[in-house]
Amino acid sequence: MSLAAIGLLVVYQYASGLSDLSERTRSMEMLLAERLAQHDAHLSGLGAVVRMSPDEPSTSIQGLAENIITRYPRITDITTITIGDEITRAVSYGRPQGPEITDLQPKLDLTGLEKIGDTSARPAATPHSYEIFKLVAPKRLLRLRIDTDALLDMGDDGVEYSSMLSLNGTVLFETSRGTGALLTASNALDTSNYSQPLHLTVSRGFRLNELSPPHLALLLLAALAAITWLIMRYRHASRERQSQERRALLFEQEAKLAQAGRVNAMGEMASGIAHELAQPIAAMLSQSQAAKRALAIDRPDILETAIDANIRDARRAGDILARMRAYVSGAPARIEDVPLAEAVTDALRLVEADIAQRGITLVVTQSDEVGTGCIDVISFQQVLHNLVRNAADAMAGRQDPTITVDVRRLRDEVLVIVADNGPGIDPSSLGRIFDPFFTTKTDGMGLGLPLCARLLEKMNGSIEVCNDGGARFTIHLPTGALR
Ligand code: ADP
Repeated sequence: MSLAAIGLLVVYQYASGLSDLSERTRSMEMLLAERLAQHDAHLSGLGAVVRMSPDEPSTSIQGLAENIITRYPRITDITTITIGDEITRAVSYGRPQGPEITDLQPKLDLTGLEKIGDTSARPAATPHSYEIFKLVAPKRLLRLRIDTDALLDMGDDGVEYSSMLSLNGTVLFETSRGTGALLTASNALDTSNYSQPLHLTVSRGFRLNELSPPHLALLLLAALAAITWLIMRYRHASRERQSQERRALLFEQEAKLAQAGRVNAMGEMASGIAHELAQPIAAMLSQSQAAKRALAIDRPDILETAIDANIRDARRAGDILARMRAYVSGAPARIEDVPLAEAVTDALRLVEADIAQRGITLVVTQSDEVGTGCIDVISFQQVLHNLVRNAADAMAGRQDPTITVDVRRLRDEVLVIVADNGPGIDPSSLGRIFDPFFTTKTDGMGLGLPLCARLLEKMNGSIEVCNDGGARFTIHLPTGALR
């Protein structure tokens, strides 16, 4: 991306350089047009004066020539040439010390100067200059010498322009400014409309630091970095939002799954619970009958005992039903600081009857120092139920099946250990039993243990497993503030 931006900057700089070059060429064309027209005007003016001055040297020509040379320094010489039969005489005007007469030795080339008014421009013998000849009268010529350096002087604008001026194919001068240009662009112009058919080429070189000026490139890179940073922040924020939404959805699904698990487990425990409920209900029936008899024989003492017993048993049944309702409710998780020994006893109360029905012994041991733990009571119950039911399943058909639940405090955590004396877990499966959908049961879903792990994670706890006689699951829970 940075490279593309630098590339764009280079293209932009090159394009604006080309436009500067066109501008420069246009200005030079206008300047040249104006100056060449001045030369033609001087030739006409001087020609008229020459024609009026048959005798030379002439003070009129000298006066006008001096004036022209002072005002137009690029015109370095004004000469009249008279072609005689024997010799060709040249009178050079415009010098402060007066006209200078010389004889021209080489025969003058008169090509293009056949009739009066004809002009011919030619490179001069002196470098960086050219001469314009004009036939002003029979055998009388006028010659202007032009300094090309002064002709094209446009001042320096700090840009690397170079130019090449030629006349009739002869290079009059060539400037080459600066080296190390990476790219060059040229424009050409012709002045063939004037008496001086000049050809000018204007070129411009582009150095690396012109195409990609360091301060601009740095500014661009900084802007790019800022834009990239903003895009990355936006992406990060939207990823964060998406993952929050996914987490919320996952929590919702987990909560539904957990509740479905509890409702399902309740169905499986139904016969054990019915059995447990049958006890207080049967007791209430016989106590009510006893109360009725006590009333008939007028024994208020027996009546009071029977009614007290009824109240106790009704409360017991009510407690069982309340626990069942709380367990299958979809109430949201609520982390509380609760006495853990009690939470374990309460949790086991719902499965006790079912376990007993299956002929399994449940041994619960708790140390005095357990204290409290920060848990969601319903989730904790569900974890214990899953572990106890898995243990019961694993011990089906075994001799003397026993499940032990041990609650103890270890430094700043509470351990709840659920162990059985079943076959244990196949060592090759030990690393996978917390993976969703891992099951060895024909009717298993493989979701019980992963759910236990998630529920404990939400309580900042964890679970691990090992084989120790049978399977041994250890729950780690943070201790609560209360003791
Ligand atoms: P499911 O009970 O539906 O199979 P779980 O995730 O609760 O799903 O258990 C996964 C697997 O872990 C069980 O299929 C079983 O193979 C193994 N497992 C769990 N608890 C015990 C245990 N106490 N003794 C032996 N294997 C067990």
